[in-house]
Amino acid sequence: MKDSNFVWVNGQILKYQKAKIPLLTHSLHYGSGVFEGVRFYKTKNGIAVFRLAEHIRRLLSGVKAVGAESPYSKSQIIDAVINLIKSNKLNNGYVRLLFYYGEGAMQVIPHDIGVNLAIAVWPLKSYLDSDIVKVMISKYKRISNSATKVDAKLSGNYINSLLAGLEAREKGFHEALLLDSNGNIAEGSAENIFFIRENKLFTPKLGSILPGITRDSLIKIANDIGYNVNEVDIKPNKLKNFSECFLCGTATEIVGISQIEGYAKYGNRIGKVTQKLKSEFLDIVHGNNKKYNKWLTYINN
Ligand code: PMP
Repeated sequence: MKDSNFVWVNGQILKYQKAKIPLLTHSLHYGSGVFEGVRFYKTKNGIAVFRLAEHIRRLLSGVKAVGAESPYSKSQIIDAVINLIKSNKLNNGYVRLLFYYGEGAMQVIPHDIGVNLAIAVWPLKSYLDSDIVKVMISKYKRISNSATKVDAKLSGNYINSLLAGLEAREKGFHEALLLDSNGNIAEGSAENIFFIRENKLFTPKLGSILPGITRDSLIKIANDIGYNVNEVDIKPNKLKNFSECFLCGTATEIVGISQIEGYAKYGNRIGKVTQKLKSEFLDIVHGNNKKYNKWLTYINN
């Protein structure tokens, strides 16, 4: 992030270098922050933010989960995102929103501590640095709804992703897959996962995964194109029965998986069905499919 970029903090737009937080910020110590990542794209009708309202809804559900109340309404947050994108004069990129408990008594349960909202935007090309990736199954199990609330992007949840992601990168893989506590495939460290067999899609059920907005979009897109989508439990020993596999998420978009170490090889080129879904998805986010215009929030100059 360049110092000259603008960020939005508690209602004010200021230069990045001016946005500081105190050392005894609750969320820095206890993982009590809640965040969102959203992408925006250049389209022929101007810049458009993809599924902004859904991202803000998930953000606000997370704020509730950590026992806080947002000082800002959904529409105020949407306006803040739009204004910040405009201020930074970016055509496409990534928006990070973070609610965090501020300074106060240093104890786990926040007591009389205010919540803050910070928003930053920056250009972001690929997240995994490759269109097709090699992954391994991590020794770390995915957190479940019986241990935390997996449905929101709570900062503390991400230690699970960090440990698994580090393990994979140390062993030379692009990414880790995590199993749920019953030994089924859950998701990547920051992506949901889909498998394909004979024009049918399979993806892990909700419960131990983040209900991804990209996942939700792809389920709808796939159904509309005529692919059947199944939300199921998938054990690692079944992975070789599929012909294609891909990861998806806001930052990652859609990235093919060439192999899952020790379990399955899907080939070094992105599969046919994956490619079809990826093209449809990229068309939609770039405003080239009228049917999905409801997913785009346009930014007028
Ligand atoms: N799972 C995890 C753990 C994630 O962090 C993300 C990224 N937000 C996803 C899945 C994908 O979610 P989305 O499509 O909403 O970005």
